[in-house]
This record gives sequence, structure tokens and C-alpha cells, in this order.
Amino acid sequence: MSETDQRFDVVTVGGGLVGAVGALCFDKFAGSQFRQALIERRSLEDLSDFEKNNEIKSSGRAYALSESSRAILDVLGLWDEMKDFAQPIQEVDISDSDLDSPFRPIFLNFSGEIALGKVGAYIIEHEPLAAPIYRALRAAPSLEIFEGSQLEAMKHHASYVELELDNGVSFSTFLCIGADGRGSKVRSLAEIKTITSDYEQDGIVVTVDLSQPHNGKAVQHFLPSGPFAILPLPGDKASLVWTERRGKAADMCALSDEDFISEVNLRFSPKLGTATLAGPRKHFPLSLVLARSFIGDRVVLVGDAAHGVHPLAGQGMNLGLRDVAALVEVIVETKRLGLDIGGNVALERYQQWRRFDGVMSALAMDGMKRLFSNDNDFLRELRGFGLRLVDRLPPLKEFFVKEAAGMNGDVPLLMQGKKL
Ligand SMILES: Cc1cc2nc3c(=O)[nH]c(=O)nc-3n(C[C@H](O)[C@H](O)[C@H](O)COP(=O)(O)OP(=O)(O)OC[C@H]3O[C@@H](n4cnc5c(N)ncnc54)[C@H](O)[C@@H]3O)c2cc1C
Repeated sequence: MSETDQRFDVVTVGGGLVGAVGALCFDKFAGSQFRQALIERRSLEDLSDFEKNNEIKSSGRAYALSESSRAILDVLGLWDEMKDFAQPIQEVDISDSDLDSPFRPIFLNFSGEIALGKVGAYIIEHEPLAAPIYRALRAAPSLEIFEGSQLEAMKHHASYVELELDNGVSFSTFLCIGADGRGSKVRSLAEIKTITSDYEQDGIVVTVDLSQPHNGKAVQHFLPSGPFAILPLPGDKASLVWTERRGKAADMCALSDEDFISEVNLRFSPKLGTATLAGPRKHFPLSLVLARSFIGDRVVLVGDAAHGVHPLAGQGMNLGLRDVAALVEVIVETKRLGLDIGGNVALERYQQWRRFDGVMSALAMDGMKRLFSNDNDFLRELRGFGLRLVDRLPPLKEFFVKEAAGMNGDVPLLMQGKKL
């Protein structure tokens, strides 16, 4: 190492929502014991447009935030700032029909409540979610932020790992967290292989105004080209996540406003009236990227770097927040015991906790995508039968609502709203 090198206990590469929340958790629960750094190739202000003028400038991107993800934001003291922008989901309708079907039969209906008066998920736009997170990140005392530069190289030593940025700066750390998304550089430098599948679909996202109140109802229409989700936002707006075949999604986004919204209304739920455009439209390529291991030599992967999943169940970020909640719990405990935070024992514990859930979620969404994104008559009958069966079995419905709320399985303490 050269004389100018800096030493950190933990370095997070990637300041997307998952890496940012992880860094805030380390600051809050181990700040006095840890020196940590965050490396992000963009600027934090770029990652949150809200910050620029302190008003919502919708990018069209929104998330279904599970109750357990809400709990972690609450423990960090951030939820109060964002709750007025979050729409509780009171009810979910699921339908499965052709595009030109004269009506959209509801096969399955869920109440969104996990307990009396308590919902399992919220819809929130990117900007009001991101702004308090990035403001808190800037103010975190234990954290040094290196923005506008990216990780280029990694060298392993017996008791630390050396990271080098594209601007020549280098660090050493006991633990490197790869939160750098689907194309993770940390993952490739750690020589962790992936399982990938290109869905040849794009997700179109756009915010619309509704002609009728949504009363907190979310709708998922399974259409032959892919799911079309209507996610309620405060003020009788909705965020649409509309999956289309790759070329068609680009064609749709290139339409005039008038033609685009008439395509939207062709797919819309009659119960929610008609939609008018309330923001820009964007489309994102959809693929499955699953790391074969969530850990390497003094390296852990979290969020999309570990498991980039199909957005049909709105779980990608929620899974990533669950990763960081589990990781912080393991690392804080390891540090309190005086053990090596980048050692195999700690990393294996994280992997055992998170890998099964990450892999099962990715495969479940992959299976659902294959089952629902087609117009095969036999599969349609099978889907209808399955959805009606779930509709008639309250314990199964309850399981799915709790799953969406992130409350099944071994839930990390932070996601139960508990401090470490
Ligand atoms: C259409 C669509 C709808 C979705 N809806 C939902 C939803 O409703 N609910 C939900 O939970 N999830 C949803 N998701 C998934 C969710 O958006 C992702 O799972 C989540 O944003 C991943 O966050 P991340 O921080 O892991 O990765 P990213 O957001 O990809 O962040 C990675 C960061 O790392 C930085 N970076 C990359 N390489 C380097 C490098 N070498 N050096 C430094 N920095 C680097 C990048 O600039 C970036 O800021 C949706 C996804 C799509 C496409």
C-alpha cells in the first residue's frame, strides 16, 4: 500500500437505495466503532432529483415498499419525512385476460391489511423516498463519501482488501460491500459467477392521474405480453409498471402523448376510470441476474448485485433492504464479539441467512413471468384455476400478504422495527 492510502473498516461500493440505507444503518448502529466509506460513480444529488428544488419532480419511477422496509426507514428516523408521500395499499385485484377482452374478470382479491388498520405495503415515488435518505447520508458522521468515481480494481491480502478507483485513489478495508447493481464490478472482481436470463421484455413506467378515486386499490392485470400493474399514489394518481416485449416497449414510448395514453387506457381497469398522463415515461430492460454466491474473499453482495429479479411482484428493492438489514445485524454482532468482520464466519452467516430467500424469490418471479407472459390456452386455464384456488383459501392468502409485507421467515431485527 502507498502512503496516501486510507483505511476503512467497511467500504460500500454503490450508493443506490440499497447501498445508501446499508451505510446509514452502519452509521447509526456502529458509527462510533466503524470508519466507513461509500463509493458512488454518480453524484448523490443526481440520484435524488427531489433535492435540487425541494419539490417532487416525478421521474415516473415508484416502488411498492413493504411494511418491513418501512420499519427499517422508521428505525433510521426517516419515515416521518416521507410518509405523506406514501399511499397505503388497502386492496389488491388480480386479473388475467387478453388485451381485447371486453371485460377484465378478477380472479383473486386481497385485502392489503396484515392486522386491523395496518397495511402490508405502500407505494411511493422515487424522489420523496430518496431525498431524506441522501440528505441523511450527507450528514452521517462516520461516513466518507467518494462520489463521481468508480471502482476499478481490487487486490486481496490476508487481512484486508485493497480497492482502487478510476481516479487513482485507493483504500484498504476489512470488508467490501458490493451494492453496485446488476452489472456489479465488485462481483466480477471477486470472480463470483452469475446465472442470467434476458426476459426480452422492458418495463415501461409512468405516472398517471385517475378520473376516479382509487381508494388505495392496486391492480395487477396479467396480459399475454406481460403484467400491467396499476399502483395507487396519494392524490388519486397511479404509477404504472407495464411490461411489454422489448421492441414494442420502445415503440410505445416513442408514441405521441395522445396515442400513448390511449394504449394505456386500452389496458386500464374499468373500475379506476380513465388515465391521463402526469409525468414522463421511461422503459427499463428486464432480466434475471443471480449471483452463484453472495460472498467472496472479504466481499459480500447485496441488492441487485446479488439478485436482480423481474419487477412483477415489486420486490427487488425490498429484498435488497432485507439483505442490508441482515448484514448489518451480523457485522455489528461480530464486531461486538471482537471477531473479524470480513472473516469467513461472519460472511457465511450472512450468506446462510440471505441466499435461500434471494434465490427462491428470483426463481419464483422467473416462474411467474414464464407462466403469465403468454396466451397459451392450457396455461391460462391452469393460472385461472390456481388464482381462484388461492382466492378460496384464506390461510394461503394471508401467507401471500405477509410475504409481500416481508414478514415471513427469519426477519432481521431492523425490519421488525427494533434497534440493534
Ligand atoms: C420497472 C421496475 C419497477 C420496479 N419496481 C419495484 C418495486 O415496486 N418495489 C421494489 O422493491 N423494487 C422494484 N424494482 C427493483 C428496484 O428498482 C431495484 O431492485 C433496486 O433499485 C436495486 O437497488 P440497488 O441499490 O441494489 O441497485 P442500483 O439501484 O442499481 O444501484 C447501484 C448503484 O451503484 C453505482 N455503481 C455501479 N457500478 C459502480 C462502480 N463500479 N463504482 C461505484 N459505483 C457504482 C450505480 O451508479 C448505482 O447508483 C423495480 C425495478 C424496475 C426495473
